[in-house]
Amino acid sequence: MSDIGIGNTPTIETDAVIIGAGPVGLFAVFELGLLDIKAHLIDILDKPGGQCAELYPEKPIYDIPALPVISGQGLTDNLMDQIKPFDPTFHLNQRVDQLNRLDDGRFSLVTDIGQEFITKVVIIAAGGGSFTPKRPPLPGIEAYEGSSVFYSVRQMEQFRGKNILIAGGGDSALDWLLNLEPIANSIAIVHRRDKFRAAPDSVNKMQVLVGAGRAKFHLGQITSLNGADGQLESATIKAGDETFDYACDTLLPFFGLTMKLGPVADWGLNLEENLIPVDTEKFATSEPGIFAIGDINTYPGKLKLILSGFHEVALMSQAAHHIIYPDQTIRFQYTTSSSSLQKKLGVR
Ligand SMILES: Cc1cc2nc3c(=O)[nH]c(=O)nc-3n(C[C@H](O)[C@H](O)[C@H](O)COP(=O)(O)OP(=O)(O)OC[C@H]3O[C@@H](n4cnc5c(N)ncnc54)[C@H](O)[C@@H]3O)c2cc1C
Repeated sequence: MSDIGIGNTPTIETDAVIIGAGPVGLFAVFELGLLDIKAHLIDILDKPGGQCAELYPEKPIYDIPALPVISGQGLTDNLMDQIKPFDPTFHLNQRVDQLNRLDDGRFSLVTDIGQEFITKVVIIAAGGGSFTPKRPPLPGIEAYEGSSVFYSVRQMEQFRGKNILIAGGGDSALDWLLNLEPIANSIAIVHRRDKFRAAPDSVNKMQVLVGAGRAKFHLGQITSLNGADGQLESATIKAGDETFDYACDTLLPFFGLTMKLGPVADWGLNLEENLIPVDTEKFATSEPGIFAIGDINTYPGKLKLILSGFHEVALMSQAAHHIIYPDQTIRFQYTTSSSSLQKKLGVR
């Protein structure tokens, strides 16, 4: 690591950065690791697994080779186990916003919290793009975003002593109500139904807090926000026939996530219908040193399947090795019989 960073944190220098910790980005850690390439993974989500963990954690997948059936979360957990020997560094809750080539041929990546990475190769495994929170249709909400309205909690301390209103009825809404209650000055949740799409244990805990008067529950919907200069003073809530202003200085809406291509479009790469064209030998993009694997890439015959992404990872890793270790040749080896690979995997 060097001392100079764009944000408050030191710049991280590494051989490979993987943008996206979906199933394909995770498996890239394994294949790169077998070739002695250590990777940093960056994802805007607060957990690894991409679509599998975010969109269908409990749904069964039937077309992963040698796994007749496995859930989206189960596949993610297995991949996390498989890459453990390579000890990747995860940078979650961060979106890669900038990607530029440096004069020395390496790349600089900067995330939305100002963390900079300098790397020899970039592997874009960004799937369908970055998961972006759904914005509730409240007039003028943009003016409060970042000062009074937040779609994620990155540092709990930021909310100490605040009068918080949480909107939504899923796991995120309830988890943050439970986590922030001890440090908030006041906290309430507004949801349009009295049924929650969250873990029963969280619902029970929320009801205990409400029963004890430590949190409020409003059955209704926010119709407008009131305040000035980005500072929220109250939210107007419609609950049945009644409409009232609830005093709060912070609103945390949790209405789920959608996928948008996001900053990938700004990195100067050739795009075809929001996908990155690659060759099928190396999965290289139009920029030498930048690879694209998984759902984000396109080539003749591309199938957006996890197994296709896994194949792409193996070939991409060989090509990345040539850039990182230009003087070395790769000897083809099997994990079943190579003692050197088995040492890397910690099984010998
Ligand atoms: C309901 C459903 C069922 C499916 N069932 C199957 C199935 O049965 N079999 C199958 O093979 N496939 C299935 N798929 C498709 C499969 O999930 C995808 O092919 C797979 O997730 C692609 O993996 P990936 O790693 O390329 O991308 P993703 O899983 O999309 O992960 C990409 C990650 O990149 C992150 N990201 C993007 N941009 C940035 C950025 N700028 N900064 C930081 N992070 C970023 C995103 O947050 C995301 O976590 C299904 C998909 C859905 C929605």
